[in-house]
Amino acid sequence: MEYRFDFLVIGSGIAGLTFAIKAASLGEVAIVTKKDKLETSTNYAQGGIAAAFGADDSFENHIQDTLSAGNGLCKRDVVELVVRSGPERVKELVEWGVRFSRRSDNPLDFDLGREGGHTKNRIVHAEDMTGRAIEQALIRVAENHPRVHIFEDHFALDLVVEYSGMRIGRRFRKRHKKCWGAFVFNKQRNEVDLFLAHVTLLCTGGAGKVYLYTSNPDVATGDGLAMAYRVGAELANLEFVQFHPTCLYHPKAKNFLISEAVRGEGGRLIDKRGRAFMKDYHPLGDLACRDVVARAIDTEMKKSGDDCVFLDITHRSKDFLIKRFPNIYEKCLSLGINMAKEPIPVVPAAHYMCGGIKTDIHGCTSIDNLYAIGECACTGLHGANRLASNSLLEALVFSHQAYLHVSEYFNTLKDESFPLLSVGDAPYPLVSNALAQSEMIFIAHNWDVIRKVMWNYVGIVRRDKRLMLAQNHIDQIQREIYEHMPNIPLNTDAMELKNLAVVAGMIVCCAILRKESRGLHYNLDHLQKDDENWKRDTVIVLDEE
Ligand SMILES: Cc1cc2nc3c(=O)[nH]c(=O)nc-3n(C[C@H](O)[C@H](O)[C@H](O)COP(=O)(O)OP(=O)(O)OC[C@H]3O[C@@H](n4cnc5c(N)ncnc54)[C@H](O)[C@@H]3O)c2cc1C
Repeated sequence: MEYRFDFLVIGSGIAGLTFAIKAASLGEVAIVTKKDKLETSTNYAQGGIAAAFGADDSFENHIQDTLSAGNGLCKRDVVELVVRSGPERVKELVEWGVRFSRRSDNPLDFDLGREGGHTKNRIVHAEDMTGRAIEQALIRVAENHPRVHIFEDHFALDLVVEYSGMRIGRRFRKRHKKCWGAFVFNKQRNEVDLFLAHVTLLCTGGAGKVYLYTSNPDVATGDGLAMAYRVGAELANLEFVQFHPTCLYHPKAKNFLISEAVRGEGGRLIDKRGRAFMKDYHPLGDLACRDVVARAIDTEMKKSGDDCVFLDITHRSKDFLIKRFPNIYEKCLSLGINMAKEPIPVVPAAHYMCGGIKTDIHGCTSIDNLYAIGECACTGLHGANRLASNSLLEALVFSHQAYLHVSEYFNTLKDESFPLLSVGDAPYPLVSNALAQSEMIFIAHNWDVIRKVMWNYVGIVRRDKRLMLAQNHIDQIQREIYEHMPNIPLNTDAMELKNLAVVAGMIVCCAILRKESRGLHYNLDHLQKDDENWKRDTVIVLDEE
């Protein structure tokens, strides 16, 4: 099939939906999403959205907390923009029907929570299911809009990019690129569709699945990052992977997060013997920033050889826990853990990509008519470490920025004729979701190896030698994929493997380049922060010459 839309939005999380709802005032919008529309990281967000609403709070406080978490790499103008427009964007969510936890009947009298790294209570939340409340409300608004069309089970494969420029000698210089949409695998019909659009947005979320342990849902395979890389967009700061300190450790709990807010409400980290250890690592103890807490747990686990540590909030009453953390309480209880009576077993897990596709203050990438918003983007807000609950906020603010930007020139853009391209030009000769056993083994094996290599060699604490080992492994897997992939019919597992390998390669590359320790990048061979050489982004781009 071949479709023509004004806007193609890839991804149905907070970034994609927010932009789609706004852009529908300008033209027809297609949202393609690779599984069920609700299957997004947004839907699993627990803690909330940071915004300076409190009487004792100010924009300046929120700005300072964000800058200090970001450790010298945040872009001040972006931080100012995001923080200052935060309350307005949160109010817009309330207008769209999101019901946040409140202290009174006034819909804006939020019950503000506190999380690590914040000096004030400023987390707007809906109990411990903030993401679900947002996702469901946005889906409702989008689905009720006649100009928004949602395509579930549609997996974006590659961007359609037009190149122009001039040849100087044997080289193609001043290459100019314009995006016109994407080839998309329709999983229901097992065929490739062409979605042409005047404006394309990558809103594909994070890449937690590149690590063995992650809080992210299965969709987080970094497809947007890999697609952008393949067409030569700039990416930045991929070495800054945030590990959440407390994921539930239980064989039956896949990717379940124990929100930071549990520590905000007095939860203490203890080891198997009941010793509280966080004061040994930081004066703020259990309320230190995520990177400090994750490294402390990693160290404790390596010292003791234990499989996990424990989060103890048994001093709080059962009634309080059920009211404040209904989702976590239920989940733990369903696995036989009564958090009111016993500590919760937890481990750190890959949680958030601070780096991504490099954008400007409007969400524009280095390719014309291609925007990146949400977790797949690197806007300059987070720098070397994201302040908790700033990511939902960033997605809201940048969806709005992209909408404002595109509104300015959309009238001229919509008259441009689409390129002469048809679905027959799709570069995927074999298409099938039914694979031979050997092909499935090839995919499953390499997927497994990537995730283990990344966890063991490119994890919370890094060393030069381990990074080089990781690079060798990932290079080898990329070679195998390059060799074997053309014989494997196109299917989503194979595409995800290919994308994971690209993303793993980029993370390793950035981590090798940065010869210092800063924020989330902690290398035992370069323990000092090196402002003279490294107070800058790590930018990578495909060498197409
Ligand atoms: C468990 C958990 C808790 C969190 N808690 C918080 C919190 O309290 N506060 C906070 O600020 N942040 C939190 N975060 C982070 C935050 O939820 C995410 O950064 C944010 O939701 C990302 O939104 P997004 O729209 O960019 O991507 P997502 O919400 O992840 O959506 C990505 C979309 O892209 C689609 N997609 C991906 N690849 C393709 C493809 N190839 N083709 C088609 N579709 C594709 C996916 O199917 C999905 O629809 C949490 C994250 C997790 C995992």
